Amino acid sequence: MRVQSVLDELRERPGTGDVIPIIDPASEEQIGEFTDCGVDAVDEAVARAKAASASGVWKNLPDYERAKVLWRVGDLIDENAEHLAELESLNAGMPLSQAQSLVAVSAEWFRYYAGWCTKIDGIARDIHTGGLRGIESHMHAYTLKEPYDVVGLIFPWNGPSFNFCAKLAPSLAAGCSSVVKPAEETPLTALVLDKILAEAGVPDGVVNLVNGYGHTIGAAISAHPDVEKVAFTGSTEVGRAIVRASADSNLNKVTLELGGKSPVLIFDDADLDTAIMMAGFGTFVHSGQACICGSRILVQRGVYDRVVAGIADLADNLQLGGPKEDGSMIGPLISQKQLTRVLGYLDQGRTDGAELITGGHRLDRKGYFVHPTVVTNVDPSTSRLFQEEIFGPVVTILPFGDDDEAVALANDSTYGLAATTWTNDLGRAHRLAKGLKAGTVGLNCQMQFDHSMPFGGYKQSGWGYEAGKAGIETYLQSKIVWAKM
Ligand code: NAP
Ligand code: MG
Repeated sequence: MRVQSVLDELRERPGTGDVIPIIDPASEEQIGEFTDCGVDAVDEAVARAKAASASGVWKNLPDYERAKVLWRVGDLIDENAEHLAELESLNAGMPLSQAQSLVAVSAEWFRYYAGWCTKIDGIARDIHTGGLRGIESHMHAYTLKEPYDVVGLIFPWNGPSFNFCAKLAPSLAAGCSSVVKPAEETPLTALVLDKILAEAGVPDGVVNLVNGYGHTIGAAISAHPDVEKVAFTGSTEVGRAIVRASADSNLNKVTLELGGKSPVLIFDDADLDTAIMMAGFGTFVHSGQACICGSRILVQRGVYDRVVAGIADLADNLQLGGPKEDGSMIGPLISQKQLTRVLGYLDQGRTDGAELITGGHRLDRKGYFVHPTVVTNVDPSTSRLFQEEIFGPVVTILPFGDDDEAVALANDSTYGLAATTWTNDLGRAHRLAKGLKAGTVGLNCQMQFDHSMPFGGYKQSGWGYEAGKAGIETYLQSKIVWAKM
């Protein structure tokens, strides 16, 4: 019933653009629809955010009061956790237990950033400016950390409630007002979270939710002259469009959390059972639709056959199913579009002579399910399967000889989001951590991520950082004030 009321409310939200269906990816059934709000609604949302910022109702609230509101948001997310998890799993297709943990993590992000509200500090210096033109001056200089007035927050469908909170918690802690665009495929949890913000005490106009397509309202947000900063999570391709929009409009500041093709290095001396289990699960979880999934497994020759067999065995034994199906560990792909994309890559691999050890096909049932797929025997320098982000349950496994070859193969990518090494040689592990070009490196652990540590991509995986202190800094500008003593 509560699900139906969210669907009803979405359907009734005004809009002037296309009617967009909401599809349950586990059944392919249409469960609802909403109307693209249209570009004029983006203008109105930006105007509301700008007015809210100018009024100072949020950014000038005492920091400890902002902190209390954010803490309340975390608690309200917990109070509504079952409802949010149900919506999240229905809309994104993930098992209920995964949706529950995403929602729990989302609440923690708000409590973590509640703490930062009272810790936004600049620097102060007593300065004697001698020398210059021979004039001796005594100055006091200090920095003011000030929020952007209006920020645009745009994010994808793969963990909708978490993506919402990972952007809203630090931007609100900094004091920003925002226009928020969830992915067109997954509008459900954002609507509930938006209400939670209001109930917790975020004033009217500070957060403005808009729903619709990326090429319509996403593009309008990123090119809007009054949006001072855009924080984007999504594909590298759309990341480029966001940068172009900034260059062509007001040079708004941009942070980007983009795609990945993360390598997992398994050495002869690793604890193989753990490495196989973690590498396999870290590849296929959420059907490979997590940015830091490992999608290239590189294995030292001595254990290559054993690892390939182990990952294939795991792939065959992961239970796929919809959120409501008993024992389901892996859900479907998000959409027909994503299914077509993934199957297209697999066809391409077959044409190129890749060996599909297991998988390579969709399941013979309703829903966008693809059998977890293990691919070997590809040429790393030409294979699209090895080089491009597929964002599906597909892993390419290749052998290597020594450390140098492993690092060279791992770094042979335009992406640099994450990397993992499995070895019991401590010195080697730390040498690899230095050699790998990735924003996150796991030594005998995979897919590590926490609100307290910065997260960002090397190379074409991103600009800037989310999470940790760096995550709030990204929503603040530094003003340097000079006073003559
Ligand atoms: P996407 O196609 O890039 O879309 C992301 C968001 O941008 C959506 O809200 C989308 O709207 C919007 N958008 C599309 N075109 C736009 C434009 N021209 N201007 C402004 N906004 C636009 O990505 P996706 O397919 O939803 O998500 C998968 C990608 O996200 C993968 O590449 C994955 O690696 C990446 N990702 C990265 C991280 C990270 O932290 N590095 C985390 C999660 C996901 P629509 O919904 O209408 O398309
Ligand atoms: Mg999309």
